Amino acid sequence: MTGLATRPVVYSFTDHRVHRQEPPLIIAEGDGIRVRDVGGREYIDALSGLWHANLGFSEPDLIAAATAAYAELPAFACALGRTSAETVLLAEELLQAAGGKFRSVYFGASGSEAVESVLKFLWLAGNTGGAPARKLIVTRDSGFHGTTLGAATLAGIPRQHDGFDLPLPFTVRVPRVHFYRDHLDGESEDEYVARIVRTTRERILAAGPENVAAMVAEPVMAAGGVLVPPDGYWPAMARLLAELDVPLVSDEVVCGFGRLGHLFGYQRFGLEPAAVTVAKGITAGYAPLGAVLLGADLTAAIAAAADTHGVLGHGSTFGGHPVAAAVARANLRIIRERKIYERVAELETLLETSLEELLNLPVVGEVRCVGGLAAVELMADGVARRPFDPERGIGRRVAAEARARGLIVRDLGDVIALCPPLITGATEVMEIVSKLRAAIVAAVTEEAR
Ligand code: PMP
Repeated sequence: MTGLATRPVVYSFTDHRVHRQEPPLIIAEGDGIRVRDVGGREYIDALSGLWHANLGFSEPDLIAAATAAYAELPAFACALGRTSAETVLLAEELLQAAGGKFRSVYFGASGSEAVESVLKFLWLAGNTGGAPARKLIVTRDSGFHGTTLGAATLAGIPRQHDGFDLPLPFTVRVPRVHFYRDHLDGESEDEYVARIVRTTRERILAAGPENVAAMVAEPVMAAGGVLVPPDGYWPAMARLLAELDVPLVSDEVVCGFGRLGHLFGYQRFGLEPAAVTVAKGITAGYAPLGAVLLGADLTAAIAAAADTHGVLGHGSTFGGHPVAAAVARANLRIIRERKIYERVAELETLLETSLEELLNLPVVGEVRCVGGLAAVELMADGVARRPFDPERGIGRRVAAEARARGLIVRDLGDVIALCPPLITGATEVMEIVSKLRAAIVAAVTEEAR
């Protein structure tokens, strides 16, 4: 395949200045946690595609479910009072698996669509429920919630806004939770948490809680740098949101479906969200699907809106696609039958113990692990918490060196993110970490020359 043949593709989340000089990586096939490019080179994909291929790249039961579903009903939509049997069964199974906390499921085809939809449902609920002022959404610095206009507005990452005339004016921005980078010298973890929760409180009060529709938050921020919250953070935030009467929407597009060792990430932190957005891992990436699990209030609000607005003016052709629904049902079965949550607990320990060894490299400031998510924070001086000059692109170099060694990781600035398939075993974790160590050493040595 020539480079020229790839020019028609617009690559997302890609630095097109670099991309002009370097050929894209074009993958032809997958096997377990490995993928092979069109030239026959093999890579461990320690990002599971884009945080989504949770069962690797050759899971026969998912392929069989998709094949059977294609034979049965290859296309249908979830609209106009009609849908496929697979879609209804999936909705029922999701609600049951969530332990009865939610009442209905809205299906889209992606995470962005799920987030965009929940924003519209929140506004619809306010408009029909006598609280039309409730329009603001509380969102955190470094958050990522998708790329459509509303979802991208929520982002706390400047490049999601720059050049796009965003954000739209409906957010209350509050601090991210990143103890290592953001704590003041001498500040304990508890003091740090108390400070950022206090700031969050002040910002919501300044905006007026009566104007706030919800807070949308990832239980663990993924694209913002795999930011693992200190133990006290979510309990304090849950108390604050209850006090100010702000519902929580848990954006589980990355954290859901086993990634944090539970069906949903909010369960790991004991949260009680009013709605949950999911995508990616719902089908382990084998078919596009997004969904919003709606609690009693939002479910009732959508039903009530019919009396004031008539037809629900929201939906999408591919939402709840029958093949995607069948794949998601097979995925739920696999998660249950193969005890994926237990495997994730083992994976977390493996990642934690092996990544900790990287801390003896002077440029590694912190490693973070939770479930099957991990990050390595690269710093010019890890102990003094002195970052690299971003212009030096250390993270990008490490990712390139890793790729040269057959390892795919994600550089988020100078944070290296890992999100390996949940089936990654002990020897594979060792291989990932040893390749990553070699990549870091090579990138720093190369830079020093
Ligand atoms: N929310 C979160 C937390 C995400 O990480 C992402 C994607 N990385 C999205 C929403 C958007 O999902 P999609 O790419 O499927 O639109």
